[in-house]
Amino acid sequence: MKQKNDNNDIKLVTNIPKELSTKERGGHKVRTGREIVDRSKLEQIIVKESGEKQPNTYTGHTYKNIGEKFRLDGHKLIYHIERILKWQKGERVAPVTIDMGLTKFCNTACIYCIGVTQGGFTKGQMIEPDALMRLIEDCGRLDVKGIAFIGDGEPTLNPAMYDAVVLAKKIGIDIGIGTNGLKIDMNRAEDILRDATYIRINLSAGSREGFTKIHQSSPDNFDMLLEKIKTMVKIRKKNDYKCTIGIQMVLIPENFNEIMKLAKIGANLGVDYLQIKQCSDTEYHELGISPKDYERVQDVLKEAEKQSTENYLVKVKWNKINIMDETEVYRGGFRKYDICYGTPLLGQISGNGKVYPCGPFFEKKRFLMGDINRDSYYDIVKSDRYWNVQQDIVNNVDVHCDCTIGCRQDYINKFLWDLKNPPEHINFI
Ligand code: SF4
Repeated sequence: MKQKNDNNDIKLVTNIPKELSTKERGGHKVRTGREIVDRSKLEQIIVKESGEKQPNTYTGHTYKNIGEKFRLDGHKLIYHIERILKWQKGERVAPVTIDMGLTKFCNTACIYCIGVTQGGFTKGQMIEPDALMRLIEDCGRLDVKGIAFIGDGEPTLNPAMYDAVVLAKKIGIDIGIGTNGLKIDMNRAEDILRDATYIRINLSAGSREGFTKIHQSSPDNFDMLLEKIKTMVKIRKKNDYKCTIGIQMVLIPENFNEIMKLAKIGANLGVDYLQIKQCSDTEYHELGISPKDYERVQDVLKEAEKQSTENYLVKVKWNKINIMDETEVYRGGFRKYDICYGTPLLGQISGNGKVYPCGPFFEKKRFLMGDINRDSYYDIVKSDRYWNVQQDIVNNVDVHCDCTIGCRQDYINKFLWDLKNPPEHINFI
């Protein structure tokens, strides 16, 4: 039936018997006895005497979530959608980020080091200064966004590292450094703190005894390292530099009793964060890591996170530490994806200058893409050889068997796998 109201608006009216009207007999009333609020009449919205905010008053924001300052337990590839789209179209894109070693040797022998399993740890092998500078320039041409001097040997043992940081800043490439910190040249610390985006000290113990056991270094070096970190924090503050200073603890049963000590030391040092991460094991389980062991320290890790303050974050990489809980298949050693798609977007270079798709494949000739001591990285990335290796990974690498568990590309691999394997009904977002 059509009816007109006072404003002459016509509306359709269906006469429903009162006993069948849902308005009269809303199902919830059977459970709660509560009346329905008339949302069309804002003046009728009840304002409580307590001043407690009521819905439908639209008076602005009252709650603020604490923002995620650093995403330490996940990936940031989604902030590079343009590159992803080009890669999806099959373009020969450069990596967004490169992780690279600068040397193939180290001044410590941490008892969890995965670098030694990747072969070629030989004193004397490092990237030549000229080659390193050329790489930085090539990365500028290729629009690589960030280069992290992490993995393989100790980067501060390559004297060219400091000049590389300064050059990258000039070109507009972000630099991160992961180091054991002992050999940082304090005369050049200012170059790092001014021009690098972050420096992360690998420190997996909170006592002299623990340091000696875990890092196979002298107890005096523990004190010396803490002094260096304190000095860097001071230099940064004095000059208002923006470089993030963090500490990373690699967790293994031998340092479970160091967690709380290190969390407190981090707060006293004035660093920005302490990141506690799992130890990645190799495809042959040479490091003897049992992810089940981490169950024993869940409470301690949560306690450590409580040391966080406004300016100091203690962050456990729960996604990786609890990797076995993710799905039934993970417990069997399998992954959530079947193909590794991440290597074109996150590239890796060994400390001797050889380019491979990823760290766990260093020294495997089949996957060697080029050598920056000899060739331009720009040409390597554009070469057929580089893309044939990438395709070899897609076609022939069985990630459930051939790969390091929880490798560096694991987070982005999950994301890219999802992108490549959409579910049905994607238009119902
Ligand atoms: S999934 Fe395998 S191939 Fe891919 S990056 Fe990890 S270790 Fe390398």
